[in-house]
Amino acid sequence: MVSTLEAGPYRVAFDKQGATIIHGTSGARYRVDAPTATTTAQLIRCHLDVCLAMLGRHRECLEAYKMCIKGKLYPVGYAAQGAMQRVEALMSDHSTHLLDARLAPFSRWRPAWNKKALQERWGARYVHERRLGNVNYRAPGEPIRLLDPDAGIRTIVELLQQDRSVILLCACKDYETCHRHTIVDLVVTILPDVEVVL
Ligand SMILES: [Zn+2]
Repeated sequence: MVSTLEAGPYRVAFDKQGATIIHGTSGARYRVDAPTATTTAQLIRCHLDVCLAMLGRHRECLEAYKMCIKGKLYPVGYAAQGAMQRVEALMSDHSTHLLDARLAPFSRWRPAWNKKALQERWGARYVHERRLGNVNYRAPGEPIRLLDPDAGIRTIVELLQQDRSVILLCACKDYETCHRHTIVDLVVTILPDVEVVL
């Protein structure tokens, strides 16, 4: 038995072994075997990977992609007023993760922002991604240099692709000059339509 489903520019035909995704404009087909992808959104994402690699970017593919990525990105600097309340409010959605992008996840003056305290408060939803830390964070005159961005960025991208929202945490009050901005720019090159909420 084959059932089909329309999703934006795609037609998805499910069968016993998986699904075939047909792109309406180009007629391109992409095969996904179960259970690697279980939801329509995942199937479309799989297709989009192929679309981006082989067919070029269709406007409607990007539209569909936008619909697919439900996770949002929230850069937060804890030196800003109300940062803890904001984190608490965002974390009340249990799919949200707190990604700590500090090279040294410690705060002498605000112990609630120490790694240990955040781990105790949020458990597995707190993730310290040291590889996204700014090597030059102690030297304000020096340019921002992330420790290992290629590896570190995957942590954020994978969470967003699993429809989890991500709080991107650093200490800095000012987003524009903080390495959070650099990290967000990197995420956007991979996921162009992710919603960034400042
Ligand atoms: Zn910073």
